[in-house]
Amino acid sequence: MAINYLDKFKGTLLGVAIGDTLGAPFEGELRSIIHSNFTNFEEFIKSNKKLFNTYTDDTQLTLHTAEALIKGAGYDIDYLINAYIKWLDDPPIGPGYGCLSSIRKLNYGVPWQEAASDSGGNGTAMRVAPIGLFFSKDLEKLKSMAIESSQITHSHPAASAGALVVARSVAYLIERPSSERIDADDFFNAIISPILNSEDEIWEEFIGILRKVQSSINASTLESGLIKFSQAGVKAPYFIESYLGKAFVHPYTLSTVACAIFVFMKKQRSFKECIYALSTAGGDSDTIGAIGGALAGAYFGRNEIPNELIDLIKNKRKILKICEDLYTRFKEIYLK
Ligand SMILES: [Mg+2]
Repeated sequence: MAINYLDKFKGTLLGVAIGDTLGAPFEGELRSIIHSNFTNFEEFIKSNKKLFNTYTDDTQLTLHTAEALIKGAGYDIDYLINAYIKWLDDPPIGPGYGCLSSIRKLNYGVPWQEAASDSGGNGTAMRVAPIGLFFSKDLEKLKSMAIESSQITHSHPAASAGALVVARSVAYLIERPSSERIDADDFFNAIISPILNSEDEIWEEFIGILRKVQSSINASTLESGLIKFSQAGVKAPYFIESYLGKAFVHPYTLSTVACAIFVFMKKQRSFKECIYALSTAGGDSDTIGAIGGALAGAYFGRNEIPNELIDLIKNKRKILKICEDLYTRFKEIYLK
C-alpha cells in the first residue's frame, strides 16, 4: 500500500502539539497524583478544556525546526539557528533552561560552538521530529542533521543521541501503514543503528537502555515500565531521590526518550489510547507527550487522530500549513 506522506507529516506535528497540550498541565507531577484526578481521562479533558488551552516550548521549537527546513531546504544549519532565535519573540512557553540560555547567546551573536550549554536535557529530542520526516529517505543526512541540530544548543552527547533516536524513529514510522503492527525487533534494530559503533560511552549506555526497553514491552505493565525507565541513565547528583521507585519521567534525554518509546510501543492500538498514556505518564509530561506524540502521529497519521483532539490545539491551521509546506519541499527533493 502506498504511503500517504502528507497524512503522516500532518499526523507527526499534530501528535507533538496534542501530546504537549495534554501533558502541559501535569508537568512535574507524579503519575499517581495525575491519575488521582480522574477515572476517565477523556471525560476529564471534556469538562476541563481550559486546562488544555496551550502547547508549550516543545511544539514551538518543533514548528521552528520545520520552518527552517522549509526555508533552507534542509541543508544549512544557519537556518535552524535563525529559526530558534526567532522563538525568543514567540515568546517561549515553559522553556527549559538549557535551551533558553544557549539560544539567548546565539541571539547575541555567540558562535554555536560556544553558545551550547552542557545540558543533557530533552530540549533537542523534543524539537527534532521535522528532521525525521524531512530526511526519512536519506538516513546519512538525517544522522548529521539530527546531531548538528542538537549540538547548536546542547553540547552533551546524551542530547544528540536522544535527538538522533527520535528522528530515526519518526523516519521509520512514517514508512509503516498503521494497519500493520510494528515488528518490535525490526523497530529497535532500526532506531539503534545510527548510534552503534560510537566511541562515546553515553551513546553505548543508551543502546543498553533501549535494549532493556525492548525486552520490557511485553514483560512489564505500563506503570512498572515507567517506573523502571523514569530515571534511566541519570547519574548522581541528578537523581530525584524522592521519586525513585515512582513513575516520574526525568527531563534527562535518555530517560524521557526511553519512556516515550516504551509507552508508544505498549499502546499501539489507537492514537487516542497512546497519547493519553503518554501525556499522563508523570514527571516531564508535556515533553514525553510531545516526543511520544511525534511517534504516534508518524505511525497513525492525521486521519486516525480524532477531530476532537485536533480541535483542542492552538493555532491548528498554522500547524497544518507548516506540514503542507514541509511536505511540498520534501516531495520536490525526494519524491521526484
Ligand atoms: Mg514544554
